[in-house]
Amino acid sequence: MSLIVAKDLTRSFGVGEAERRAVDGVSLEVDTGEILLIFGPSGCGKSTLLSIVGGLDRSFAGTLSLFGRDVAALPDAELSRLRGEKIGFVFQAFHLLGHLSVLENVMAPALFSREAEGEARVKERAEAVLERVGLADRLASLPGSLSGGQRQRVAIARSLLHEPELLLCDEPTGNLDRATGEQIIELFSALHADLRTTMVIVTHEERLSRLAHRTLDMVDGRLEVEA
Ligand code: ADP
Ligand code: MG
Repeated sequence: MSLIVAKDLTRSFGVGEAERRAVDGVSLEVDTGEILLIFGPSGCGKSTLLSIVGGLDRSFAGTLSLFGRDVAALPDAELSRLRGEKIGFVFQAFHLLGHLSVLENVMAPALFSREAEGEARVKERAEAVLERVGLADRLASLPGSLSGGQRQRVAIARSLLHEPELLLCDEPTGNLDRATGEQIIELFSALHADLRTTMVIVTHEERLSRLAHRTLDMVDGRLEVEA
């Protein structure tokens, strides 16, 4: 089954003479359980495309179906609920809250959401995902005391808390040195082996290609047709 079916997605920024198409007629299907890598240079439209397929940006032309639902027909509240329940995001910048502990950072989105789940249960699940990413001994640490790789592990744990069916990763190793980046690649690989989570990863780093079941190249807002 396809989790994502996109047809002729186009997203422009600027008006009149200054209008630029960041995403230019992209069609794409992503199947349940696959790891799709979209590879392309800085500025080719990767983040813009990922925001659209993640339901974060609705200002696009074309059609998009997520989990069998037509995004254009979904009210904002329903799209945001779908996102909250089924999609996890991992970004290049880890977006952790500096004044909260590792454990609190992972728990925070679940506590702020309207989901009526008790704090004790959220804490239990947060501890479990932090153990999975190898941070069981850093629960009380502040992000400032962690290495880049450890911070990205916290961000990955946070994205996994609600057991997303689809994980969208934007340059997940972009801020990491080579060795640390390798550890994150290994972590994604282990997570996929365990959870079979569908993943779409966009990057300009060639080394991520060994994770992928399928790789598409993006150039100037367009996806190259598969051979
Ligand atoms: P990538 O993630 O591949 O580096 P982006 O999707 O961030 O590329 O950007 C693609 C193009 O769209 C770039 O030319 C960028 O400047 C432009 N762009 C992206 N977001 C915006 C925005 N919010 N406003 C104006 N231009 C934007
Ligand atoms: Mg980007």
